[in-house]
Amino acid sequence: MGPQLGSFVVGAWRQPSSAGVEPVRNPTTDETIASFGAPDFDAGEALAWARRVGCASIEALGWARRGQLLAELAGVLTRARDELLQLSILCGGNTRDDAKFDIDGAIGVLKTYAALARERPDGPWLPGAGGSEPLFPRSVLHGRQLLVPRRGVAVQIQAFNFPVWGMVGKLAVAFLAGMPVVSKPAAPGSPLAVRVAELLTASGGLPDGAFQLWLGSGAPLLDHLEPLDVVAFTGSAETGRLVRGHPRVVATGARVNVEADSINAAIVGLDLDPSHTSFARAVRDCAFEITQKAGQKCTATRRIFVPRPLIPPFREALVGALEPIAGQTGDPSLAEVRMGPLASAQQRSRVRAGIEGLARWARPVFGDPQRQGFLGVGPGVGAFLEPVVFEAEDRAAALSEAAFHRDEVFGPVATLIPYDDPSVLGAWVGFGGGSLVATLYSSDDGFLSRVARDVAPWVGRLVLVDAVSDLATGPSSGAVFPGLPHGGPGRAGDGSELGGPYGCLLYCQRVGLQGTEHGVQRFSEATVGSAVRQR
Ligand code: NAP
Repeated sequence: MGPQLGSFVVGAWRQPSSAGVEPVRNPTTDETIASFGAPDFDAGEALAWARRVGCASIEALGWARRGQLLAELAGVLTRARDELLQLSILCGGNTRDDAKFDIDGAIGVLKTYAALARERPDGPWLPGAGGSEPLFPRSVLHGRQLLVPRRGVAVQIQAFNFPVWGMVGKLAVAFLAGMPVVSKPAAPGSPLAVRVAELLTASGGLPDGAFQLWLGSGAPLLDHLEPLDVVAFTGSAETGRLVRGHPRVVATGARVNVEADSINAAIVGLDLDPSHTSFARAVRDCAFEITQKAGQKCTATRRIFVPRPLIPPFREALVGALEPIAGQTGDPSLAEVRMGPLASAQQRSRVRAGIEGLARWARPVFGDPQRQGFLGVGPGVGAFLEPVVFEAEDRAAALSEAAFHRDEVFGPVATLIPYDDPSVLGAWVGFGGGSLVATLYSSDDGFLSRVARDVAPWVGRLVLVDAVSDLATGPSSGAVFPGLPHGGPGRAGDGSELGGPYGCLLYCQRVGLQGTEHGVQRFSEATVGSAVRQR
């Protein structure tokens, strides 16, 4: 049956109330490994405690000490890395490499934000853009912008697919900016989230009120929002809409950031042919993006735009790259396995329904969504699905309502889409309604810059793989770097997280300070420090 997972609320671990306890299953074996439920505690009191105790205790630390604490927490997770990888394999169906993506990614965010703190002046607040300036020529009135931590609580709601990166990454940025956090993991990743929370809280580094973990439904947290609170939500566009429209969000004006789903694109340039290294790189990246974490990544490539004459060789190469991975799909604890199961049987049912939708607009070219029998597991056991690739019907590629442009099928599934004229690509990428990332593969500078300009307004991140970068063995587009923004317009939520210092903006109020030069200067020194410290 496994342990009953508790929540860390108002400085103590609390067991769930007996009603509403649910199982967490290992998606490889279907065995129950733990159970969880909402704590027997008033959510309003938990949020009030964070505002009352957490805001003051974080502000008292100052920017530099907060950065040091993030570095210490990176050390805590690094020392527990092997244990966390094992837990990720057990409860997330991740291969060891997939698990590293989540856990090392989290450690990377902690280190990046710790380093950022070392490069800034010390003080409880962050400097905004620019220093103190006269408000108009020869004016005695001066002004400057300051970033004041919001004196509320950051309610951080996580999706199931990155329980560690999602939770720790959001916490790092809010904490550095100066806000306390209540983190709410999704059900499937809760054993991992609980273990990370145990490590963080046992480290003794986080000040009182800075961090709480809330299992079970996130709805009670939203019911108690106040005006200076922030909701940082990650999950489906549908739930994102519910959060945005929550009556308490509407009534209080609490700030909401939504990181939602995304129908990401890879675009193969007109100039490529199968002899070109960028062609091979595109095939490698697409196969990787389809299968890493069994395609359960918000940044995974869902649509692959390929010049029509290149479709046959690209299809053949992609199928050639996917075949061995399909053959090595199974129990992720086995060294030879390259792709594990989906996160749950329910998730697989959703993906299969999505595949049926795609089949109305595209023909299958690889994969059997009903396949039974995977490496190391008995028939019918686990939430397994092999990679599936479609190819758009000619008439469908240019139709915005085609399912491959419209529906995020959250599994190892992608669609090849032929194009003739690159001037359509901006609009076709835009049929997805706004995405997290698009990747362009081309060595033609004219093609790259023209298509990049058309596509950029529809995405949060644009990856350019040209003749120079394709020589590198760098990560493909699914990797999110903390120095660049993560988020995308429209259906992707129109949110923005990370991006180095810009990530802190979500948790700060931008305040214009206006007064005499002396007054502005004195107040600034007291709040944001006066000099940039050296590393
Ligand atoms: P989901 O079903 O929308 O759930 C996301 C989170 O919201 C979960 O913690 C869920 O809790 C919670 N939730 C559900 N209903 C709620 C409500 N009424 N009020 C408050 N919270 C509520 O998404 P998911 O299935 O976990 O994650 C997969 C989706 O997330 C995919 O669409 C993927 O693209 C997206 N995603 C986006 C990003 C990004 O950065 N843009 C990153 C990762 C994933 P329960 O688990 O308790 O229901």
